[in-house]
Amino acid sequence: MQSLNGAPNIAPKDFKRTKIIATIGPSVDNYEAIASLIKAGVNGLRLNFSHGTNKERTQQIAWVRKAAKAASKPVAIIQDLQGPKIRLGDFDGVATIAKGQSFSFCFGADYAGSGHLPTQYDLSKKVKRGERIYLNDGKLHTTVSSVRSGVVHVTAANSGILVQRKGINLPDTDFGGDIITAKDRTDLVYGSAQDIDYVALSFVQTADDITRLRKLLKSLNYNVKIIAKIETKAAVDNLEDIVRASDAVMIARGDLAVETPPESVPIVQRRIIGLGRQYAKPTIVATQMLAGMNEGPEPTRAEVSDVASAVIVGSDCVMLSDETATGQYPIEAVQTMKRIIVYTEHHMPLKVSFESTDDDHTRQAAISKAVISLAEDVQAVAIVAETKSGATALQIASYRTTIPLISVTNDVRTLQQLAIVYGNKSYMQPVDPLAANKLTDWLRQAKLFHKGDIVVTASGRYPGVVGTTDTIKVRVLE
Ligand code: PGA
Ligand code: MN
Repeated sequence: MQSLNGAPNIAPKDFKRTKIIATIGPSVDNYEAIASLIKAGVNGLRLNFSHGTNKERTQQIAWVRKAAKAASKPVAIIQDLQGPKIRLGDFDGVATIAKGQSFSFCFGADYAGSGHLPTQYDLSKKVKRGERIYLNDGKLHTTVSSVRSGVVHVTAANSGILVQRKGINLPDTDFGGDIITAKDRTDLVYGSAQDIDYVALSFVQTADDITRLRKLLKSLNYNVKIIAKIETKAAVDNLEDIVRASDAVMIARGDLAVETPPESVPIVQRRIIGLGRQYAKPTIVATQMLAGMNEGPEPTRAEVSDVASAVIVGSDCVMLSDETATGQYPIEAVQTMKRIIVYTEHHMPLKVSFESTDDDHTRQAAISKAVISLAEDVQAVAIVAETKSGATALQIASYRTTIPLISVTNDVRTLQQLAIVYGNKSYMQPVDPLAANKLTDWLRQAKLFHKGDIVVTASGRYPGVVGTTDTIKVRVLE
């Protein structure tokens, strides 16, 4: 048995089903910290391309791969593109804005000389009179009064202060299919030469944005899956098409709660998780999940409840951002998240119930449903599935069975991509007509399975070929 990862020493029923993604940043910018994150329960690591340098990232990727290998555990690496995240440019001091005041922005302006606040992006080409511009993470609301020769004039709806580089949100602005910036393109060229598993696209507005990214990835020969970050009003309006076009979906609540009413976000979160299950696309709940742990060792009560809720409604992943990137308790944040996940999974009603229209009659869906119903009826300790592209594992996981799913693949990219899929643990093995059987035997030898345990396997007549799963077996282990 050739395996990249060793057998775990916990029973399959005790595997954590909901996965954890953490963000790399200055707080964990060394090998030991990254290894500790992985040991504490991280399944995926996000590189935020809004900050940092490629030199740092190349080093971080090497650390992740080394630590994952040392821990015998596949870890997914995510390249998170900045997208059209617009920021104020550089200027000295503080601009104090009063309610009702008119002021202006201009691309790259010199504030002291011109009186226009500088922006890092030419807003004048995109915004129109009457549209809203939110500044400082939504704290200062303004409306565009006019756009004249490259200068955007706005009126403040409330008072506030502005300092350089604060974020700008344009909730009403249509980017007209032009959301992949020049920086994103450069970052993709860099990423295509690295060992990366997912690319996350920020500020997606339509399914076409995803299709465009996919073409770009193809032209770069960049073999990654695409995560759509839902953080604009347009994305909420086009949700189902975006979920279908992408490979995974992130509920990016930070910007989403600025661009759409904050009270609508919990419902959108549930809709996205439901759609993710319906289309077998992993879902990620992100931002401020344990924000209280940026500065202190304890989360707030509300944060504990937030993580537990995401688990109960069946999200594939929960994500940490500042908590691990810049917070003071990065490892503790992951440990806390894991404790909440494990407790919740062990105490919630056995079946995650969720409305989902079941009109998928593809062979893959039918086989996956049959595997689960058989495994539940015979009280199997695990489902062991062969998967080339990961599609079989994704499909089985999407039904959120409580029977642990163990998948075997011959493709290291698939192995790593499956690291963030609900209830799934993957192993690597060369193409073999008996891959599922051999993995089961190996896990039996490793004492993960015991004599008398029942395992249901799903395999195919053409091992290593995508979409050929056609055989279900029930094995009683000797
Ligand atoms: P960000 O995305 O951290 O890249 O902004 C997540 C969010 O907006 O919540
Ligand atoms: Mn965002």
